[in-house]
Amino acid sequence: MDPISPLEQALHAARALVLADLVAGEVAEADVVSLVEDSVAQRRWWVEQWPDGAGYVAGLVAQDVQDALLERYGRWPLCPVCGSGDPHALDVEPELGPDPHWVCHKAGVKVAAVGSLGAATGGAPTS
Ligand SMILES: [Zn+2]
Repeated sequence: MDPISPLEQALHAARALVLADLVAGEVAEADVVSLVEDSVAQRRWWVEQWPDGAGYVAGLVAQDVQDALLERYGRWPLCPVCGSGDPHALDVEPELGPDPHWVCHKAGVKVAAVGSLGAATGGAPTS
């Protein structure tokens, strides 16, 4: 068997991180998981063209899934920091870069790394 390439590792990691955040938001339904798969498939093509972007894939997949959910379900992930005012979604920062985080632009804070949203929100029961 071939060893897993760094590119595949990056795609696997991105998938796992975004799924972890979906589970934290209790939106990891089967059809939502397929949105992640679709994004990973598209980003596989993208990163094959530009292998140096492997470290950026997690942030890109998070944004793809966020956009797809907005059309089908609504805003995700909702900001857990601001207790009042209109519910709003977190944004991924940097949009194209390594070490992506969810940030609230309203409060101007980093909420959590992509993949660690459960810890920031109190999360869903894990059992
Ligand atoms: Zn906020």
